[in-house]
Amino acid sequence: MANKMKKALDSEEWKITIVDQFKTHYYQPGFLFIPFDIYSKQDVIKPKYDFFPSGIEVIFSEIDKVVADDNKVLLMDGKQLAYDFLIIATGTQTYPEETPGLKDKLWYKDIFDFYTIEGAVALQKHLKYWEGGKLVMCISELPYKCPVAPIEFVCLAEAFFAQKGIRDKVDITYVTPMSGAFTKPVASKMLGDLLEDKNIKVIPDFYLERVDNENKKIISYDEKEIDFDLLTIVPVNLGNEMIERSGLGDDMNFVPTHKETMQSLSHENIFVLGDAANLPTSKAGSVAHFAAEILFENLMSAMEGRPLMAKFDGHANCYIETGYGKGALIDFNYDTEPLPGTFPLPGIGPFGLLKNTKINHYGKILFRWIYWHILLRGKEMPIEAHMTMAGKQRV
Ligand SMILES: Cc1cc2nc3c(=O)[nH]c(=O)nc-3n(C[C@H](O)[C@H](O)[C@H](O)COP(=O)(O)OP(=O)(O)OC[C@H]3O[C@@H](n4cnc5c(N)ncnc54)[C@H](O)[C@@H]3O)c2cc1C
Repeated sequence: MANKMKKALDSEEWKITIVDQFKTHYYQPGFLFIPFDIYSKQDVIKPKYDFFPSGIEVIFSEIDKVVADDNKVLLMDGKQLAYDFLIIATGTQTYPEETPGLKDKLWYKDIFDFYTIEGAVALQKHLKYWEGGKLVMCISELPYKCPVAPIEFVCLAEAFFAQKGIRDKVDITYVTPMSGAFTKPVASKMLGDLLEDKNIKVIPDFYLERVDNENKKIISYDEKEIDFDLLTIVPVNLGNEMIERSGLGDDMNFVPTHKETMQSLSHENIFVLGDAANLPTSKAGSVAHFAAEILFENLMSAMEGRPLMAKFDGHANCYIETGYGKGALIDFNYDTEPLPGTFPLPGIGPFGLLKNTKINHYGKILFRWIYWHILLRGKEMPIEAHMTMAGKQRV
């Protein structure tokens, strides 16, 4: 957004300030590949400075809170920033401490997340010498960012163990609070069948309550128990505590946001982008990218006192790595579930929607380059912000 706005605004009239607590940017989709030695830590990090346009103010500091009624952002060091317009893009973070027993004595010994760089690297070291047993991949709670990442994880794990020659020694179970492998029926069936083909057991409707470290079990609210030797977990995802301190969030610290305009529901001069918003679509980088195009138009309108005409449709587009050099692709929005077909060109593709193909895998691998060189730099992609039905087959 800073890159887009800097180009569009008259610097005599507008000043852009970006505040972030960390100087390093992580390519989070790359965390998935680290446990399997496909990427290293160096492949997923770059300094944020590399992506900021010149002529904006950059402040590296944790935000204490937003005092929205006074149009002020308070930093942890006591500094105050006044604003005319504010974009909140503080994302979602994982909170393993929310689940009793999760961050206990087995944490980073037999229990790992891969949603943080620390977790992904610790798991990489652990898998190097793991000799097999019961691998359980469990999703703690909804919503969580990148809903397909745990499916990708078990697929990559399956291929990794097969390659190591220990597949017959590993029992892989996918445990989810959803009623199937994925939220939407057509994709859930395709992904469920894929996991079945790979001999990965799916346990649906499991609402994790606690972890028993002594007996190595996960236990649900209705007292179902699952044994593990190695537990990989998507911990509870919440919005940043800053949102709570500011009184701007719902009960999970996500900011109530107009699902089409990206405007905060409580303050007209606050807009929300990415995982921080409570939009009824996936929390994903692709969603943040498409929403940014809508936000750009609406923010320009708000600054010029015009009505907000651009409307976001909840468009999400996610490559799903499935192992053995293959991948699937889903493209959907608020109203249309992932459907089979070709993308982006009808009948031509080259990518196959809800199909397991090599070319989709190349799409996933190419995505990292696109991320660093196009998305973060606020450049245009040759893909519409709005989802299109072209190439999709109704089922
Ligand atoms: C394992 C994994 C795989 C994924 N795979 C994909 C994928 O294949 N495709 C896809 O589209 N998406 C994927 N995602 C999701 C994607 O990474 C996120 O949806 C995306 O990064 C969201 O962007 P964001 O800007 O909203 O939040 P973030 O990228 O999380 O950025 C939030 C920023 O806010 C800053 N911040 C937060 N609180 C404060 C504070 N109080 N003070 C100052 N700064 C603060 C943080 O430092 C951070 O820089 C994946 C995520 C993970 C973890």
